[in-house]
Amino acid sequence: MIEVAGEAASGRDDRKLARALIERIGEEATCEIQLFGEKPARASAKIENHEQAVAYLIRELQGSHGLRNLDAVGHRVVHGGDRFTTSVLITDEVVAALDELTSLAPLHNPPSVSGIRAARAVLGPALPMVAVFDTSFHRTLTAEASSYALPYDLAERHKIKRYGFHGLAHHYSALRYGEITEAPIANSKIVTVHLGNGCSAAAIRGGESVDTSMGFTPLEGLVMGTRSGDLDAAIVTYLARQANLDIAEIENLLNQRSGLLGVSGLSNDMRRLLADYAVNSRARLAVDLFCYRARKYLGAYLAVLGGADAVIFSGGIGENSPLVREKISAGMEWLGLRLDPLKNAVAVGAEARISTDGCGIQAYVIPSDEEALIARETAKLAPR
Ligand code: AMP
Repeated sequence: MIEVAGEAASGRDDRKLARALIERIGEEATCEIQLFGEKPARASAKIENHEQAVAYLIRELQGSHGLRNLDAVGHRVVHGGDRFTTSVLITDEVVAALDELTSLAPLHNPPSVSGIRAARAVLGPALPMVAVFDTSFHRTLTAEASSYALPYDLAERHKIKRYGFHGLAHHYSALRYGEITEAPIANSKIVTVHLGNGCSAAAIRGGESVDTSMGFTPLEGLVMGTRSGDLDAAIVTYLARQANLDIAEIENLLNQRSGLLGVSGLSNDMRRLLADYAVNSRARLAVDLFCYRARKYLGAYLAVLGGADAVIFSGGIGENSPLVREKISAGMEWLGLRLDPLKNAVAVGAEARISTDGCGIQAYVIPSDEEALIARETAKLAPR
């Protein structure tokens, strides 16, 4: 899948101009392009890889949809490793360094790097391009939050630590919370719970990430659509021995065939599982396990922060499912978190406060806008 958003970004004066989405790359792909204020235009095309997808989108946006005169392009890159802890202007050297990071994120970085290559090929290397990393918001994790209890030298040599991901989503939630409440961000303590196909939570103090549930890769932590999240590492070696699985098979099992899909045996789509919740015990188990894990992390992060001002839900599930939010938050009244049933029920896909007036920990739904952050970072770094 490739997603592109055209934005006029200059500080707070962001304006979305268009969005585009290509799915089923490698087959007969479906492409959707929408200029804001207009109906989406859909087409299908033979698109074999991410490079072709980016080239197709840029040509379409510039040609049929008239979005010419680009000033810059911002790229989302999942893993910045130790080297990229803030957004950077892309040069040949940066592209080479991103290639080197492939070993740290073999499943996630190659599509971003091929997207960068394709955009440079179509638009020319003189157009400023900026890489914005999902890891960089978590650069503020302390050593105790970012370390694994592995032999120190081994971890150092192989750069094994908890990098954290979904940084753009968590950062956006924190910034938007500051805007909505007009509370000074320097004093704020919030827990952000991002529940989409990938899911993660973060503990944020004073606008900075202090802990997050994804770790060395985006596999750790919460139960996700097809990813297991936390599990006893000994299961990996046990499966290798007992089920005779090799590394690639185990990687595939944990990333593509676990999570909601693996437990339910039905679907990775939360909507389907909620529809079958009352009639299918495995759909129910998948949903309950999903919510239970999120609840454990919420409790852990309230402990890490010493309480919080607010809990923020985002992502396709967090934004759209009152039931999931209710299951995660239930029974936390003693901590000061109490959802208002009516406010929670009507907050579907829209920004809203969903907690009762005056409770100690407020709860919000804040739809993510990662593209807005990428556009702002790009506008900041691109030479004018
Ligand atoms: P995202 O990756 O943020 O696009 O989120 C995708 C997830 O959101 C999928 O699991 C969808 O099933 C889920 N989702 C979208 N709409 C709803 C909804 N109305 N209720 C529950 N889950 C939803």
